[in-house]
Amino acid sequence: MSTDFQYIFVKYCTGVFLTKKKGDKNQSINKIMLMFVPEENKCKTISLEECYNKEWVTFLDEQLLLKNFQCLLCKEVANNAMELICNDHEDQKDALVVGGQCLMRYLNEHNGECPVGNHGLCNYVRGKAVRNFVDELVVICPRQFMSQETEKANVEMEEGTKITRGGPKVKHGCTFKGKIKEMKNHLERSCQLKPSECKFKEFGCKDLLFEFNAEQHLQSQMKRHMDLLLAYINVLQQNEMVNFGNLVFFFCFFFL
Ligand SMILES: [Zn+2]
Ligand SMILES: [Zn+2]
Ligand SMILES: [Zn+2]
Ligand SMILES: [Zn+2]
Repeated sequence: MSTDFQYIFVKYCTGVFLTKKKGDKNQSINKIMLMFVPEENKCKTISLEECYNKEWVTFLDEQLLLKNFQCLLCKEVANNAMELICNDHEDQKDALVVGGQCLMRYLNEHNGECPVGNHGLCNYVRGKAVRNFVDELVVICPRQFMSQETEKANVEMEEGTKITRGGPKVKHGCTFKGKIKEMKNHLERSCQLKPSECKFKEFGCKDLLFEFNAEQHLQSQMKRHMDLLLAYINVLQQNEMVNFGNLVFFFCFFFL
């Protein structure tokens, strides 16, 4: 995996899912990828850049016919759909739909040969009709989908990362439903399952939180946070680094 990604591991109930984010905040809106680890440690992913996971897309409508907007390379739902329009396929009845990333990857790896029939010089255009259709499909929040899948997969909790006290309950999950084209915005801005960190992290609280329980955490862990802060000040004191200025800072940090 490339190194310019920042990984935030989130334990959720019986499993693990992780959010993969571009380091630079301004670009992160285009770089959201989520993974969960089901049985046999095979990582399933929902990516908003690659073709869309079809189990996620059909979650609300099992009757949805995928045939017309399925990527012919990965068999998932085509994202940024392209249509192959080479002369060789003139007699083809149905449109030849491929996801944008899948097609680019294939062409790079095969010297520009067409993925259908492997003839030279693949000719393609943006699949506007397919894109418009897929953009409008209504789905549930992908983090919510994954937390449900993770629970189903019943993965053993891994050692190492502590879940916030009491653990996030499924009933607090994200109930957002919306169009696929709205999802990036939702994950960045309004998702209740967006991972967040305790503001006492630098003083030693390593609990991983979600948007929905961050405030409750601050209230229920007040005593522990105070102890962490006092221990921190104690260390500063031993190193003779305490002055009036940083005492005021700590006071404000705790109470404001
Ligand atoms: Zn694909
Ligand atoms: Zn072709
Ligand atoms: Zn959400
Ligand atoms: Zn905390």
